[in-house]
Amino acid sequence: MSFDTLGLSPALLRALDEQGYKVPTPVQAAAIPVVLAGQDLMAGAQTGTGKTAAFALPLLERLYPDGKRMPLARRPRALILTPTRELAAQVQDSVRGYSKHIGVKSATIFGGVGMGPQIDALRRGVDIVVATPGRLLDHMQRRTVDLSDIEVLILDEADRMLDMGFLPAMKRVLSALPSERQTLLFSATFSSEIKALANQFMRSPQEIQIAKPNSVAATVTHRVHPVNMEAKRDLLLHLLNLDGSQTLVFGRTKHGCDKLTKQLEKAGLRAAAIHGNKRQNQRTRALADFKSGRINVLVATDIAARGLDIDQLPMVINFDLPMVAEDYVHRIGRTGRAGAEGLAISLVSRAEEGLLRDIRKLLKQDIAIENIEGFEPSQPLRLDGPGAGARPQQGRPQHARRPHAQQPRGNGEHDHAAANKQRRRWRGGNPSATRQS
Ligand code: AMP
Repeated sequence: MSFDTLGLSPALLRALDEQGYKVPTPVQAAAIPVVLAGQDLMAGAQTGTGKTAAFALPLLERLYPDGKRMPLARRPRALILTPTRELAAQVQDSVRGYSKHIGVKSATIFGGVGMGPQIDALRRGVDIVVATPGRLLDHMQRRTVDLSDIEVLILDEADRMLDMGFLPAMKRVLSALPSERQTLLFSATFSSEIKALANQFMRSPQEIQIAKPNSVAATVTHRVHPVNMEAKRDLLLHLLNLDGSQTLVFGRTKHGCDKLTKQLEKAGLRAAAIHGNKRQNQRTRALADFKSGRINVLVATDIAARGLDIDQLPMVINFDLPMVAEDYVHRIGRTGRAGAEGLAISLVSRAEEGLLRDIRKLLKQDIAIENIEGFEPSQPLRLDGPGAGARPQQGRPQHARRPHAQQPRGNGEHDHAAANKQRRRWRGGNPSATRQS
């Protein structure tokens, strides 16, 4: 299937072509016709599946049929709610990219930055608002935003918005919107709360489910290195020194992320931390530096990293395992995106065995467990089930060996041939050319 069979205008197709998109991803193929038909939609799709374009493209087509520029609306016509400011900024970037031949005015509304510029932008007039619920509510209370002309509402990463305690704010926003509107809800998982929200605020939504809930991209290789807690930092340095790829490292606490970043910098690595205590401009700068390659290690907490669109990130390292198994899925969503290959490494101490067991249960997938020479833990991990025993690893860790195709396939190894095929289908180009290193 190609994009031109989906009913999108030439202005959008040109923008897609310029971005190198050749064929729609599964969520795009399923969602675009439903949205264009004006129906409400509940889509189960995790980050990395191309979900942003799945709602942004038909949204633009509905607001500007045939790519025709409209006189600027005084009040916004579409609202996209996201859980974090980073995701809001990224969604706006995507909307701008797809609409570059239409010329659409959009604004982002999120906390952590001054209200003034947001008020000015809203006063000048925008068609599309991308907002986090809390700050949008502030604007509603100050009457600096008028949502009475909203035609399309999109809830992006709805499950995360609920996890972050935004339900009351979302309900107040939803109640202020015209009831005659189209509502699209995107979520990695469909809990009973999400379903209740949909029942209350959506009209007979069409449901599509792309990836199984709680599954990760098939293009990600998972690997666990057992290690004593106190040796984790040295093992991390060892891995980062072996492989100079852009790497996102996850820590559990803000303080832990800061400390680790300082230690990495002291060891000569170019690293930055991103978490909730950082000011917005620090977070934006760290992300920009990471994207441009000025730094190659970004150390993040779960909340800060949620929804970060870092194109084709080759490696994610869990310095600490997440407390909730679902967060492993969200973390790993940063790699193996849009068909590219990814590697997810977890450094696991004895104290984290239970968390690892939960993750394996959730993924319904085995994870290769490999000791790294010189970093073997004093006691092996106790895990039940197949593939639980650590296999000793000689010499360089497998992830440092390139090309990937030479790696042996074993438990938990992914099928590289299939991954490459999928990526060729989407990008229509040479797979290795899209990989950062
Ligand atoms: P998302 O799930 O929206 O965060 O998208 C993940 C990544 O896939 C982004 O970097 C997009 O630019 C990219 N992407 C989305 N759709 C396509 C497509 N049809 N072909 C190639 N890349 C895509």
